[in-house]
Amino acid sequence: MYDVIVVGGGSAGLWTAKTAAENGCKVLLIDKRAKDDIGRKISYDSTPPYVFEQLGIPLPSGKELDDTGDVLTVISPNKKHRVEAAVPNVLFSRRLLGQRLAGYAADAGVEFMYRTEVVGPVIEDGYVVGVRARHLDSCDEEEIRARIVVDASGFYAVIRRKLPPEILVQDPQYCEDVVLGYREVRRIVGESNDCPPPEYRGYYDYLGYHGGYLWIVREENNWANIGIGVQDYPGNPGPVRPVQEFADDNPAIGPECMVRGSGDPMYIPLRSCQPQLSANGFMMVGDAACQVRPSTGYGWHTGLLAGDIAGKVAAEAVKKQDVSREALWDYDVGWKRGLGAILASFDAIRIMCQSVPNDELDFLLAKGILGSEQIEALWNDKPFEVGTGKQVSSFFAGIGHTGLLLKVKSVIDSADKLYKLFLEAPDSPEGFEEWNRERVEIFTNLRAKLGVKVHEKDYFGEGMKHELK
Ligand SMILES: Cc1cc2nc3c(=O)[nH]c(=O)nc-3n(C[C@H](O)[C@H](O)[C@H](O)COP(=O)(O)OP(=O)(O)OC[C@H]3O[C@@H](n4cnc5c(N)ncnc54)[C@H](O)[C@@H]3O)c2cc1C
Repeated sequence: MYDVIVVGGGSAGLWTAKTAAENGCKVLLIDKRAKDDIGRKISYDSTPPYVFEQLGIPLPSGKELDDTGDVLTVISPNKKHRVEAAVPNVLFSRRLLGQRLAGYAADAGVEFMYRTEVVGPVIEDGYVVGVRARHLDSCDEEEIRARIVVDASGFYAVIRRKLPPEILVQDPQYCEDVVLGYREVRRIVGESNDCPPPEYRGYYDYLGYHGGYLWIVREENNWANIGIGVQDYPGNPGPVRPVQEFADDNPAIGPECMVRGSGDPMYIPLRSCQPQLSANGFMMVGDAACQVRPSTGYGWHTGLLAGDIAGKVAAEAVKKQDVSREALWDYDVGWKRGLGAILASFDAIRIMCQSVPNDELDFLLAKGILGSEQIEALWNDKPFEVGTGKQVSSFFAGIGHTGLLLKVKSVIDSADKLYKLFLEAPDSPEGFEEWNRERVEIFTNLRAKLGVKVHEKDYFGEGMKHELK
């Protein structure tokens, strides 16, 4: 019998497992991948460097490190307005850093079970008490038990989505809260205004790409990493065509392509966290808990930071021999009152940026409503401020863009309410129902004011067969 089973060896699972083991737990980490594939993922491969300092681990170096930067240019949909902001950035090898994290976990005593797919939870008396797992080489199935099961299986959240509402309160899955990711690494063959120049120490981010964003960064030897997150609204064009059109229309980018593809999975839950992060015998971290940064889709570092709290809380609960929802609640509190509050406020901005027409996004950048200060906050996990509602009102009054003024005011108001609500997350599960009612109300009102419609989508049946368009 294990103290903790962690399902999934991405950044979130590896750090949770390491932290729980370091704090005295007997931990098993199960992943469907082979050992050498741990960490492997096609992504932009970028992360803010502060996470390494915060967790006390060395920054990527040697083969792990692809590049570093300290600046970002956000470009409006009509390409006429550019906002530059100080955004420290590390580009790294996901696989090599994943292997380093796996090494930390192994050193802390974590046992690994590779090539094993978890197919669901084992539930007894309202508690998650283990997992059902299938060994991919032998096809044998077995039940493995633990005091706490941590779902770190990424977007598909193999345990979370199988828990009934009496154990776990979950949000519906709206496709508008998901982006489809894709990237290509193409040869740079010249210079153009749309491609960062050789000396530029950062990347360009284009807004207004089908409810998402497109990035381009120069890599070594004249390669450009070009990628996209396209909002999964009904009828979206998929992520491949927009990247190829951008590259083909850009005289600086040639047809030679070193790598192309999506992550596994290609989906990013672009929203703030699930409302309830722990239950009896259960916790979730990373994409499985929707703990990404909604402004950029970065979930590598947020998973590590969530895992740091979850691992410590799990170990404390095991020591006290109480793995009830009450005993694990400190994880909910730790996340929601910390980075979770900031990311929840970013979610209001994300919903606005995805819903307003491109000419309004142009306007927000042109007039500095989304200026350097705001971009710096949204890309560096700092609380977001657009000045006071009054300042914004007087600013817009001179311009007379009343419709947009009302939207921006609602968004600022909602961002502020979400931030405060998360900072005041209840001390115990007793206050959860009311807290969650308020949270849902803020999002519902915001969507109503912005005229945003959402659609539920089951990614776990048909959705899994989604092909790259
Ligand atoms: C194209 C693209 C670009 C991106 N760019 C960036 C970026 O630049 N920076 C950034 O921070 N984030 C980026 N992201 C998002 C980032 O990749 C994720 O947020 C992050 O990987 C989430 O980490 P995780 O540990 O929660 O899950 P994952 O990394 O998805 O890891 C989940 C693990 O669980 C395992 N698993 C899944 N199901 C099972 C099962 N049933 N049984 C056993 N094991 C299972 C998987 O094999 C995997 O090892 C990008 C995503 C995409 C798609």
